[in-house]
Amino acid sequence: MRPALVWFRSDLRLADNPALIAAAREGRQIGALFVWDEDSPGIRPLGGAARWWLAHSLRALAADLGRFDIPLILRRGPAAKIVTEVAEETGSDLVAFNARSGAAEAEVDRTVASALEQAGCTARRFNGALLHAPGTVHTAAGGLPRTFSAFRRAAQKLEPPRQPKPIPAGLLGIDTPPKGDLLETWGLEPVAPDWASGIRAAWQCGEAAAQARLAAFLDDGLNGYAEGRDSPAAARVSRLSPHLRWGEISPHQVLASARHAAQTGSVSHADADKFEAELYWREFAHHVLAAEPDLAQRNLQTAFDAFPWRECIGELKVWRAGRTGYPLVDAGMRELWQTGWMHNRVRMVVGSFLAKHLLIPWQEGESWFWDTLVDADPASNPCSWQWVAGTGVDAAPYFRIFNPVLQGEKFDPDGTYVRAFVPELAKLPAPFIHRPWTADAATLARAGVRLGITYPKPIIAHDAARDRALRAFAHIKSGA
Ligand code: FAD
Repeated sequence: MRPALVWFRSDLRLADNPALIAAAREGRQIGALFVWDEDSPGIRPLGGAARWWLAHSLRALAADLGRFDIPLILRRGPAAKIVTEVAEETGSDLVAFNARSGAAEAEVDRTVASALEQAGCTARRFNGALLHAPGTVHTAAGGLPRTFSAFRRAAQKLEPPRQPKPIPAGLLGIDTPPKGDLLETWGLEPVAPDWASGIRAAWQCGEAAAQARLAAFLDDGLNGYAEGRDSPAAARVSRLSPHLRWGEISPHQVLASARHAAQTGSVSHADADKFEAELYWREFAHHVLAAEPDLAQRNLQTAFDAFPWRECIGELKVWRAGRTGYPLVDAGMRELWQTGWMHNRVRMVVGSFLAKHLLIPWQEGESWFWDTLVDADPASNPCSWQWVAGTGVDAAPYFRIFNPVLQGEKFDPDGTYVRAFVPELAKLPAPFIHRPWTADAATLARAGVRLGITYPKPIIAHDAARDRALRAFAHIKSGA
């Protein structure tokens, strides 16, 4: 029997990997390939933090495959050409891979499949990344439900997601693997300047790390999730997002574990249900991307095409640097820069601040997140940005404008989160931590804060920003 080639993409794991399971069936020898493809039309080049994660994740995957004597072949270039070449070099007559949600990626898959077929090789595509494949969750009329709750209801009427599967038994590598690139030659990790030290300290990549993170979350995290998930300083969220983004763990594994924890009584059903709902937001985003390929570029609500957005590079830079003068916003932007991740509540606040306080196009924020998040996801990132900006499907209404001070006081009442990421404010008493400009001179002096010098004054007053945003919104509502 001829070998099979598994083409790994955003599914960098061995367990519960449908493509690997299919390739290993019938006891075939297996070749493993990863292609770094930024040459195929429409493929979005990875951001810096995602490239860092990918490097580490590929190292972990290579080590995991190595335990079964399966070498991971690395090649760079257009997938259609490379996959066909490596299938030929390995003598494979089957190439198996798991689907991705983007239209450009789907087009690459079609091109690869037809090139393989012409070469006499079978291509097989599986759904490994989502609980439900795009297209399977639909309204009675057959379209994508345009609200999250309708999407969830439609999904609940389907067959439940399959149970996760273990690493297939009897994995066996091909005898003489063709040469691949050395990972180091791809330059995925920063050298000078090395901006990744905070990211390195914050994360462990790879399938084993993903499983350990899930276990730790089930042990101490999920319990209290429904209440605690909005507090950025509390360890009440899973931090599984980069692992899910790269497929180091499957949503099936995560969902099944959370449900099991609820069934066995180690967490409440309320906590497990809330967590499951968040996994379904991820699903929703991927289904939206599959239906709206230019999700990262265009307002899904086209009325916003006429919105008076402001192109203001100076203010954009201040926002990126975490120097807006609003402590919660600044803490979030600095957490992002330091660790490659930001808490969901704070993502919503900083996103709203950019799109509504500063009226800067949401695409600018989306692309900064794309470059700096380790979980930068082609579906969840643009979908969430459009949600925050009010331009997307089932979006937060535009007129709901987060007040960064009140958000801080509600979700970080003693300022623990702000103190961790904005150290120059660390000594401010709690009543002023989210509004330093209201502190008297003596309090500021005692805390070592000199407004406008050690920490900026607010870039814009909240009420003025809110009024301006509502006027801008009225402009498109009136069609002026
Ligand atoms: P948990 O609360 O533990 O949730 C479990 C999993 O559910 C997450 O790992 C994630 O896969 C999924 N999830 C949770 N919330 C959401 C959500 N609102 N939308 C989609 N999936 C969700 N998430 C990304 O994975 N990649 C992104 O690029 C991304 N960009 C975002 C940009 C903005 C402006 C906003 C507001 C949100 C964004 N999110 C993104 C969604 C969410 O913030 C993160 O998924 C979450 O913070 C990850 O932390 P966690 O793993 O601890 O989440």
